[in-house]
Parts: sequence; structure tokens; C-alpha cells
Amino acid sequence: MTTRSTEFKPEIVEQDTPTRQQAEEAVRTLIRWAGEDPAREGLLDTPARVVRAYEEHFAGYQDDPVEFLQRTFEEVEGYDEMVVLRDIRVESHCEHHMLPIVGKAHVAYLPDKRVVGISKLARVVDAYAKRMQIQEKLTAQVATTIDEILQPNGVAVVIDAAHECMTLRGVHKPGVTMVTSHMLGRFRTDPKTRREFMAIISNPSINTHV
Ligand SMILES: [Zn+2]
Repeated sequence: MTTRSTEFKPEIVEQDTPTRQQAEEAVRTLIRWAGEDPAREGLLDTPARVVRAYEEHFAGYQDDPVEFLQRTFEEVEGYDEMVVLRDIRVESHCEHHMLPIVGKAHVAYLPDKRVVGISKLARVVDAYAKRMQIQEKLTAQVATTIDEILQPNGVAVVIDAAHECMTLRGVHKPGVTMVTSHMLGRFRTDPKTRREFMAIISNPSINTHV
């Protein structure tokens, strides 16, 4: 793992990284635990598939979101309007049940000299989402990283997501989404700026991409 410069370092234990074979064996154990026979024909390739799926679900541990923002910022004189990226697809997994969290993120900032390609903002969301998460922490991580690296006049992040651990188990309540927000700088201190952002993300007819 690369060293990260933000306070949000994933809790990675360097030693004891299991081999692919050990990971597949662990899946076979869970298959047996569920009451199935991992040697049954239909399940033979399942452990390998599950381990490959894990590589996708948790690919964020290989990414350094700070690097995305550092590499691409440019000095842009005089641009100080709100930049908003709406409806960024979020695919994450809750750290309590390792079940999907799926929804949307809206990210805005008020540049102060530095702007970044909007795709980089989406990549920051992805890098933190593709980890074992809780939504509150994910929201704060995205906002804080943008704030630290771009040093804008403000950052706003809203995530609206459904948690499969509420749908498929426990209270079994489908259709419920959780909304979390993290506001920094002017978005926190200036109600007008915050209202403008909330109006933009809730109005589907406005196209504010810069
Ligand atoms: Zn959960």
C-alpha cells in the first residue's frame, strides 16, 4: 500500500495478506457454512469468482485519492463560481455486513485558484467507496480530501444511498435511503451558498456542469 497523506488511512495490516488460494478457501468455508457442497459442479468456480468480485468491490484500497487531485489541479485565475458534480454513482459495501450500499453522491466546491477535472472528483468518490465503509465516514472522507488538496473556499458532499443490509436482512425495509452531508468552508458558514447547492442538486432541469 502507498502511504497516504490524509488523516484517513485505511487500517491495513501489511503482514498476513492472504494468498488468492487462501481467500478462495475461505469462500469454500462460507459455502459449507451456508449448507452447500463446494464440490458440487455449479459451485466449483464460485470461490474464484467471488474473490475476483472482491477485487472489484474493494479496489479502492489500491487507490490514493490524494494523488488524483494533486496530479491534475491547474491554476485558474479568477474562476470562483461553484463547481457541482451531480449524480455520481456510488457503489460501496458496509463494513458491518459487507453488503452493498448503492446510491448517488453530489460533490461541489468553490475554487480558490485550483480547479480539477470533474472526472477526478468522481474518482475520489470511487476510491473511498470501494472499501468497507459506513456512509457517514465516506461522506466526510470525500469532503475532507478535496478540502485538503484543492484548498477551496468551500466543499459540499451529499450522499443518498440504499443499504442492502436494511433490505435483505435485519429490519427488512426496502426503499429506504440514507442521506448524509458534509459541508466545509462557505457551504458551512453561508446559508445562501448552501441553499444554492441544495437547489442545484435537487433540480433535475438545471445543468450546472462547468
Ligand atoms: Zn450493514
